[in-house]
Amino acid sequence: MTKQNRILVTGAGGFIGHHLVNRLKDEGHWVRGVDLKEPEYESSRADEFEVLDLRKYDCCLQTTRGQIEQVYNLAADMGGIGYITASHAEIARNNILINAHMLEAARLNGVTRFLYSSSACIYPGYKQQDADISPLREEDAYPAEPEPGYGWEKLFTEELCRYYLRDYRFDTKIVRFHNVYGPLGTYEGGKEKAPAAICRKVALSRDGDEIEIWGDGKQTRSFMYIDDCVEGLVRLMASNYNEPLNLGTSRMVSIDELVDLVTTTAGKQLLKRHDLSKPQGVRGRNSDNSRLFQVLGWEPSISLETGLEVTYRWIEDELKRSDRLPMQYSSHAAD
Ligand code: NAD
Repeated sequence: MTKQNRILVTGAGGFIGHHLVNRLKDEGHWVRGVDLKEPEYESSRADEFEVLDLRKYDCCLQTTRGQIEQVYNLAADMGGIGYITASHAEIARNNILINAHMLEAARLNGVTRFLYSSSACIYPGYKQQDADISPLREEDAYPAEPEPGYGWEKLFTEELCRYYLRDYRFDTKIVRFHNVYGPLGTYEGGKEKAPAAICRKVALSRDGDEIEIWGDGKQTRSFMYIDDCVEGLVRLMASNYNEPLNLGTSRMVSIDELVDLVTTTAGKQLLKRHDLSKPQGVRGRNSDNSRLFQVLGWEPSISLETGLEVTYRWIEDELKRSDRLPMQYSSHAAD
């Protein structure tokens, strides 16, 4: 049986944090969740859930109190490419405050392990200019040219975690997520990412309709299902590894291919209208998982087809519940 730990999950009202709390509760740990808001789609199973603004140092001290052993620091101001390219100053400032204060408060309160969630957005733009790009290895981060705002902050906080390890022997872990998707994630409102946005657009379309795709559809990414993400997080926390580690899949698909997978899942045929005026981020990005496998003896394995099926059905159900599915679809669904 796993030893019971006292664990804090920041960002527990968000997508990854909420799933992580469920996993930690399944394993029998005592969990405190903290966020600016409660989870949107189902209630948290955390033993304590605090609504606090972690940009404030006092709130960070408060939430790390009481013999917390492990912190998964997932709180961040973040969203899809439209969101993170629209407000560099605000996002960078919010995240700098959260991360600097959380590191110091956790250290002072005697936390033993601190896991920081970084992002593939720290990788340099010059390594991601082709759709058919080589997968990114951890050492590719430097010389640095990350995504403005969000990516620069993530890269700096990675460094800050290393300084805390070196200067205070504070046990920091750094994970670099590549796109994570799954049910119970934001699918509308501007903060949603590509898989959720595409599932929503497909669900809201009638067979034969046209849907809007950001960019020319040839930009590439890899996508990791949430259960793999949570598994990787728990394994990294249990490891003795302190350097940045990719966590993603190494199956690269174009956005058009992603759309085709979702339309197949939905059983629809749709036309794509590419909007070149919309942000599309880097041209190509994929995760090299050699080090991940070497360190954890494991890598994500849930197929995109399986993960998208679950995600699409969840978003479709959400839209059905709020009576927003198109008529043609509703009448089929009722058969
Ligand atoms: P999310 O937006 O669903 O969750 C982040 C949570 O942090 C939100 O619930 C938000 O309310 C909370 N938060 C923001 N500001 C806060 C504040 N001042 N005080 C307290 N809470 C605050 O995002 P997610 O997808 O669950 O991402 C979790 C972490 O993983 C983030 O650090 C994100 O940058 C990183 N990440 C995610 C992905 C992905 O594909 N989802 C990719 C790369 C990195």
